[in-house]
Amino acid sequence: MATRYRAARLTRTGIEDGTDRGVWENRHVSTVLASATELVGEKRREFAARNPQSARLHDEARLVLPGGHTRTILNHEPFPLTFVRGEGAVLFDADGHEYVDLLGDYTAGLFGHGERRVLDAVDSAMREIASVGGIHPYERRLAELMCARFGLDRVRFTNSGTEANLFAITTARMHTGRSKVLVFQGGYHGGVLFFATGGAPWNAPYPFVVASYNDLAGATELIDEHADDLAAVLVEPMLGSGGCISADAAFLRGLFAAAREAGAVAIADEVMTSRHGRAGLAALLGAEPDLRTYGKYIGGGFSFGAFGGSAELMGQFDTSRPGAIPHAGTFNNNVATMAAGCIVLGELYTADVAEAHTARGERFRADVAGVLARHALPVTVTGYGSMLALHGDTPELQELLFLGLYLRGVYTAPRGMVNLSLPLTDEQLQASLAALEDTLAELAQSSPSQ
Ligand code: PMP
Repeated sequence: MATRYRAARLTRTGIEDGTDRGVWENRHVSTVLASATELVGEKRREFAARNPQSARLHDEARLVLPGGHTRTILNHEPFPLTFVRGEGAVLFDADGHEYVDLLGDYTAGLFGHGERRVLDAVDSAMREIASVGGIHPYERRLAELMCARFGLDRVRFTNSGTEANLFAITTARMHTGRSKVLVFQGGYHGGVLFFATGGAPWNAPYPFVVASYNDLAGATELIDEHADDLAAVLVEPMLGSGGCISADAAFLRGLFAAAREAGAVAIADEVMTSRHGRAGLAALLGAEPDLRTYGKYIGGGFSFGAFGGSAELMGQFDTSRPGAIPHAGTFNNNVATMAAGCIVLGELYTADVAEAHTARGERFRADVAGVLARHALPVTVTGYGSMLALHGDTPELQELLFLGLYLRGVYTAPRGMVNLSLPLTDEQLQASLAALEDTLAELAQSSPSQ
């Protein structure tokens, strides 16, 4: 069995965050990896035995939902738990266990569970006016907050980050009269804009050109090659789904410059990364795109998306102009999201709060790196600010980290993603570090069966 696993020498360039302890090759590490498959089986059985109600609910859900859910990313072995309640940064499952919620709903759950000011704002707005096929003040107010915060001339709202990116692409294609879109391997911009594996048959049918992330020379070459028909370059300032790999500042700046040089529109997908610093990660890296897209936490837990940028580009949607691009969407300006967004940007997550939260995340990632450094296992941490990812060197090790933390009351993404929410207390973060320490210690002690 041992031969299935390479004795893990960490060679993935670009994901180390300065804590790389160099060579992992030692007998102990190969021993741990060799026993990983067996351990995964054990942990899955332990997890299943501990969660009979969730198992039952999952089986029942599968009768009406393919796979038992409606969001593919939530699936994992042996089955995803059903959460019945949340409070601050704590989740409670159907079997009565409680978890520190370190996932933060893939960045959408920045305010944790039951944030009173969001609930009150939405409740009072919905009492004033509910689903309305008309203009209302919250829409304009949120647009003002977004423009002021993120340096946009104009913004338009959508129902999701996916839609925001689709419309940003439309904006660029209509503006340039060109068709192609340069994206990056490992990028994720929505359910139909999926480039984890370089492209997918279910993607929106645009002619995509796929470049390597953080490779400015390679991307520039492709931009030059396709310049005649290149409408846009679409990039995350940090690969989120792709493992919390931040862009190099020089890469992002150079990429946007090369896009503009070729007459293409530079689009920064800040659906996840707009939480960083005072105005998002692109701004922190000193890179200025033509368009930016948003989503996740800005809706305070309600469906949200937005795209915005220069008056010239966004003016294409100005209905006072002949031939304006129609932008439809029943819920684009829905009262609940608009009212929640106003409280989020106006009060809960001001630029000062965002800056402090980013710094807190940086400290937490350093603490995680400190824990990893105490264990000779091929696990690293990457990220920026309040978003980070644990990387186990094999799929089995990744799953053992996930299940190990889960069984110790800490909820993260199966792929190792962690997104800090505001209500997390220092005690909860310390408890999470202790759970990681314990998980790694247990893995280090494990030995292959005879
Ligand atoms: N862009 C990025 C960078 C994302 O991480 C996501 C969602 N994970 C999206 C776009 C799509 O957003 P939504 O799920 O709201 O459609």
